[in-house]
Amino acid sequence: MGIDLTYAPAPESRSIVDLKASYGLFIDGEFVDGHGSDSSAFKTINPATEEVLAEVAEADAADVDAAVKAARRAYQRVWSRMPGSERAKYLYRIARIIQERGRELAVLESLDNGKPIKESRDVDIPVVAAHFFYYAGWADKLEFSGYAGSDGSAPRPLGVAGQIIPWNFPLLMLAWKIAPALACGNTVVLKPAETTPLTALLFAEICQQADLPPGVVNIVTGAGETGQALVAHPDIDKVAFTGSTAVGKAIARSIAGTDKKATLELGGKAANIVFDDAPLDQAVEGIVNGIFFNQGHVCCAGSRLLVQESIADDLLERLKRRMSTLRLGDPLDKNTDIGAINSAEQLARIRELSEIGESEGAERWSPSCELPAQGFWFPPTLFTGVTQAHRIAREEVFGPVLSVLTFRTPSEAIEKANNTPYGLSAGVWTEKGSRILHVAGALKAGVVWANTFNKFDPTSPFGGFKESGYGREGGRQGLAAYLKTEQGGR
Ligand code: NDP
Repeated sequence: MGIDLTYAPAPESRSIVDLKASYGLFIDGEFVDGHGSDSSAFKTINPATEEVLAEVAEADAADVDAAVKAARRAYQRVWSRMPGSERAKYLYRIARIIQERGRELAVLESLDNGKPIKESRDVDIPVVAAHFFYYAGWADKLEFSGYAGSDGSAPRPLGVAGQIIPWNFPLLMLAWKIAPALACGNTVVLKPAETTPLTALLFAEICQQADLPPGVVNIVTGAGETGQALVAHPDIDKVAFTGSTAVGKAIARSIAGTDKKATLELGGKAANIVFDDAPLDQAVEGIVNGIFFNQGHVCCAGSRLLVQESIADDLLERLKRRMSTLRLGDPLDKNTDIGAINSAEQLARIRELSEIGESEGAERWSPSCELPAQGFWFPPTLFTGVTQAHRIAREEVFGPVLSVLTFRTPSEAIEKANNTPYGLSAGVWTEKGSRILHVAGALKAGVVWANTFNKFDPTSPFGGFKESGYGREGGRQGLAAYLKTEQGGR
């Protein structure tokens, strides 16, 4: 008699989240109604069920203006004058409240985004708290950051930052933007993505709970037009954007000729390179983590697997076996590996590029896997027989879709890995330390992981080459994005 090893459902309760029917904008320390009409409110839905979670106000240009004015007042009167050691106390307080309310934040993130609870609980939220702790530590040490003035004085903040974030890591991208900005003495107006505004609004409540002075953090919800109004506002000193290369380029064009500073973190098409001496089972775990973590909605996803020809058959067999064990379904179930695709639009894009992959001649494979009837779902998928000319090898799919290419020599691997307009991240799998150093040095990518993938740490800078954007977030280098620096610092 066979033993049944399937998992019983283990859903996390959503009762910890107190969802309101509708949310306003967070301006000057208060939740306020927007200037727009009631009809301009938009709905945010649970992508796993298509259930409406809440109505959210859509900020128009007048609301953005009110938020920027509040941020300017808070900057001039309070935040830029406050000693760094005092700013640090607020950041530590926020970090601790994030930890205390971690379960609530994780459940809300999974509800609004569709990501598995084990990821929001074990990755997103702990790294969010770690970011606030890390930058709290810098707030009173900026003169030792390497960006001090030539006379050793503490570097000055920029002023008001307009920050626009995407939907793939809603609260984590908020932390990457807000923590360094505040630590350096700037105030912010942040626009979350239209499909995932809820954890940013809960973060606004956390700012109230931490008694953060009004106006230091302002949250304006809305769609692309709200983002445009923020970028165009004449009284912001800095734009920080994470999202698509197309919108990043439009932002760069719109601020050209102004003295606004910008950091852009755009897309990627990372190569995950497996050499013939790599520990294969470990590499399979890294490949799975590289492309199926967060449904592949990851700018640094290892979406191109480059495998040495001599081990390709063996590796692919192991990879397919491992993919067959991935559990897709309810994001709130603690056993779920692959949750829902964030939106109908993103699902349509993943489907379209996958169909193009097939029509261009690549071979498509997915494990047998039942997709829920309701919601937005896409099975873990791999394409073999992919050439460098295929669109699935060149464009960011931003979904659970892996393109497999082969190589024979290290120099061919490097050439193929660099043959992309992007340059955000890469992975190298090999037993040889010298090969790791050689290949990592030759790859044009902001981050290169060796024998691991998708590891994030607040102490480590993150950012891209080429069309993946410019500027760095995280680490000491992430401070430079929010300070007036002389010659870029030392
Ligand atoms: P966008 O670049 O459109 O969205 C990112 C953020 O910018 C959102 O808050 C968005 O608002 C806002 N925005 C949109 N248009 C403008 C504008 N003209 N001016 C200022 N802000 C704007 O990404 P999408 O959500 O449309 O995703 C499209 C593709 O982009 C994905 O398929 C993926 O390939 C890539 N992408 C890459 C990300 C990365 O981290 N590198 C993250 C997200 C997407 P709103 O949400 O309301 O549209």
